[in-house]
Amino acid sequence: METPTACDRCAAVDCEARFHACLAADFSDPAYGVVHHLVVPTYGLQHGWYTEQAAPRLVEFVLDHLDREPTDHDRREIRRLTDGATRVRARGPGAAPVAWQHNVADVDVASAEAYVATVRAWAASVARTCDTTPGSAEHGR
Ligand SMILES: [Zn+2]
Repeated sequence: METPTACDRCAAVDCEARFHACLAADFSDPAYGVVHHLVVPTYGLQHGWYTEQAAPRLVEFVLDHLDREPTDHDRREIRRLTDGATRVRARGPGAAPVAWQHNVADVDVASAEAYVATVRAWAASVARTCDTTPGSAEHGR
């Protein structure tokens, strides 16, 4: 049997497929979608999507919204930050790997209840790691 390849940023096997499964669940079932605002920035922070200006604000946003949904104002703000981020996303060579405690493979999509709980745990863990590891989420790493 072939050994599946782990993501070089977050160490999850089938990382991108798992992320897309989360997005599909978010959009197809509102009971899953309540944590959609955490899924995207958490995944993005772990994969260096954001600039050094945007990353700390997304960390703050995630920590602030672990158990509550964002307001329309927050949503617009995040969209603005993340839209900009996708244009500058880049992967820098030679960056030291971050020892993440959780990744997208820890998300349980079996039920909405399990999903919401595991997404929150993943988001909290990633945001706290970013908060205590300067540069861990930044663009180019
Ligand atoms: Zn990954």
